[in-house]
Amino acid sequence: MKVGIVGWRGMVGSVLMQRMSAEKDFELFDAVFFSTSNAGGDAPQVARADRTLKDASDLKALAACDTIVTAQGGDYTNDVFPKLRAAGWKGYWIDAASALRMSDDAVIILDPVNLPVINDALARGVKDYIGSNCTVGLMLLALDGLLKADLIEWVSAMTYQAASGAGAPQMRELIEQMGQLHSSARDLLSDPASAILEIDHAVSMTLLSDQLPARSIGAPLAGSLIPWIHTDLGDGISGEERKAGAEANKILGRPAMGEPGSLIVEGLCVRVGAMRCHSQALTMKLRADLPLSEIEKILADANEWVTVISNNRDDSIRELSPAKVTGTMSIPIGRLRKLAMGPEYLSAFTVGDQLLWGAAEPLRRMLRLLLNKL
Ligand code: NAP
Repeated sequence: MKVGIVGWRGMVGSVLMQRMSAEKDFELFDAVFFSTSNAGGDAPQVARADRTLKDASDLKALAACDTIVTAQGGDYTNDVFPKLRAAGWKGYWIDAASALRMSDDAVIILDPVNLPVINDALARGVKDYIGSNCTVGLMLLALDGLLKADLIEWVSAMTYQAASGAGAPQMRELIEQMGQLHSSARDLLSDPASAILEIDHAVSMTLLSDQLPARSIGAPLAGSLIPWIHTDLGDGISGEERKAGAEANKILGRPAMGEPGSLIVEGLCVRVGAMRCHSQALTMKLRADLPLSEIEKILADANEWVTVISNNRDDSIRELSPAKVTGTMSIPIGRLRKLAMGPEYLSAFTVGDQLLWGAAEPLRRMLRLLLNKL
């Protein structure tokens, strides 16, 4: 198989390249690398057959590929994909961008959760396979067991989303903001006798000043948070929150949210000053009053990445943090307890690396599925 790879040096693309190299995926096919900015330059070392970067807008070069994997972004997809299909290209398109996710011709890929949906689509000749929104994918992986057993009536997710979900410039700016806050209080911090309210005042003034770097993020994030992610369509639901119900039901192969048989997914999405792991506090209504031990077993047995963390202080602090999970494939879920609203109401807290399972991993696994090598 000849696989065209576009967007390989961006944030998602770089993580994808790391994972594909670690899993020796490049030994399974001939990779051709494309660029929107450096056609003719050197392709990465793993390119065995062709060591030159192709132009990512060259339809002929793209059409020579059996499969195209792209993490280039929605603008690229919206520009190139329709032209390729209009020119008669019948290859597989695997994409990290959201542009095609809700298209009738596309399947959202999260194989540990929806392998039957993917296999059914492959059998029907579907050619477009799109990665999910990171937060939705991470939540479904964590709740995989309860979802497969059809035990969840509704779930509300209060998210704590990392800067990486907004992009590389936002990650850099978050650290710049942290540095500026520290600078504003450095002298006071070095004096053990200084008053905490003086330190607080210095930091607060910096948070609100025009000098705080906020060109990419648009607001203070270090020492603060942002309670709206993505677009405002005027109906009080953020773009990120709208994706949750729409994508979750499509991934699970269920009717659209609100239709009979659908999963109700609600919540508020919040950006916090974490680097690259999204966390979510979940409230669920289950369809049955199961013992907590049974719920934990169902969750833990669902897939090889989810781990149930005991609901105690030490384990929760040690295991359920973005700092612990970053750079790993692990999906811990903890803070599991029945709520005062009734025996079917359950709380949970889960964390996942949004660049791995939240973005890159489902793409490389889809490629392996096409090669029958998963
Ligand atoms: P990104 O880092 O901005 O990279 C996209 C492209 O920008 C690169 O492939 C590269 O293309 C170009 N680029 C320009 N200057 C660059 C530089 N200094 N370093 C690296 N690349 C540079 O985009 P991304 O965050 O990976 O997102 C890609 C797609 O994945 C988007 O559609 C996004 O919505 C989706 N997605 C993102 C996340 C996430 O957490 N960030 C999660 C799920 C899905 P050339 O090499 O052709 O110049």
